[in-house]
Amino acid sequence: MSVLVFADSNNNKITKSSFETIFYGKKLAQQLQKDCLVVTYGNIDQQELSSLGNFGAKKVFIAKSLVNSDNQHLTKLISKVVAENNVDVIVFSHDISGKSLAARTAANIGAGIVSGAISMPDTSNGFVIKKAVFSGKAFAEVEITTPKKVISLLPNSFQVEKTNDNAEVIEISFDATASNVKVKEVKQKGGKGILLNEAELVVSAGRGLKGPENWGMIEELAKELGAATACSRPVADIGWRPHHEHVGQTGVAIRPNLYIAVGISGAIQHLAGVNGSKVIVVINTDKEAPFFKAADYGIIGDAFEVVPKLIEAFKKFKAANN
Ligand SMILES: Cc1cc2nc3c(=O)[nH]c(=O)nc-3n(C[C@H](O)[C@H](O)[C@H](O)COP(=O)(O)OP(=O)(O)OC[C@H]3O[C@@H](n4cnc5c(N)ncnc54)[C@H](O)[C@@H]3O)c2cc1C
Repeated sequence: MSVLVFADSNNNKITKSSFETIFYGKKLAQQLQKDCLVVTYGNIDQQELSSLGNFGAKKVFIAKSLVNSDNQHLTKLISKVVAENNVDVIVFSHDISGKSLAARTAANIGAGIVSGAISMPDTSNGFVIKKAVFSGKAFAEVEITTPKKVISLLPNSFQVEKTNDNAEVIEISFDATASNVKVKEVKQKGGKGILLNEAELVVSAGRGLKGPENWGMIEELAKELGAATACSRPVADIGWRPHHEHVGQTGVAIRPNLYIAVGISGAIQHLAGVNGSKVIVVINTDKEAPFFKAADYGIIGDAFEVVPKLIEAFKKFKAANN
């Protein structure tokens, strides 16, 4: 009996959200007195795979034959590892690929699923997990009653603690030829910066910036902080910024430690994607902007005056502390 965690990768590196998911899997395995196993795929360095033991993996299964994979293949791979290792709980990150893989896997193996979990399961009387509902405005406690269970964990829900343990790495064979879907090309999202869904700090801007030519200061502020950039939906719709930066109900949902919103009104659809952020800072000329109600810190002021001053202040702070 064991807990299996799916670890995703980007450019042959295990993603940061997977470290959190493995740590969650380890805690859950300890709670259930089981082992924490990990499954991944692609051309990932042996040492990196072994170091997943730092986060709690006992064994890491890798299918090197899967490189540019699709969800059909991955679902089959995960289901195969589940069947061969007597797995009863499978954990995914609730990110773009994890969300769909969790649902497909649950359907494939006949498991109950809780998507967007934010707590460890309460196993004192059943298997009950807390999740956020209504765009983070309320919580629901959901019980999974099937023998096999699937959980997708909302990123940035748990503080990861590392150890010096190593995992045993096991290469598994997998026939990647038979699929109804063929991946012909993989295009990396634009930009070389920090991935939005992995970022701990995010600087985001909206229509208050007036035009795409004014984004230089947003990028500079993000660079000074080591943050990713994001935007409101209209900004992506008009084409001022790429669509993968759009956060909110219909965009990416993020939970960074710090979210700085510049010239964004704070409409409910925008808040739905960012209100899980630990600290929210809002910069807006309009003191009645709804975003101030959700903010931890608010600056009523013109972005074109405030942002350059912030950049200057961060530069001075860094110079003084280097
Ligand atoms: C079904 C549906 C789904 C949606 N999904 C999303 C979503 O996922 N994400 C999303 O973002 N939106 C979404 N929207 C749109 C949402 O309702 C808002 O229209 C949108 O978020 C507003 O974007 P904004 O704040 O950039 O622009 P605006 O509403 O135009 O606000 C601009 C803000 O900038 C301020 N401002 C102006 N000048 C300055 C300045 N010089 N300095 C500082 N502040 C200034 C203004 O006071 C104002 O508050 C959705 C809408 C619908 C109907």
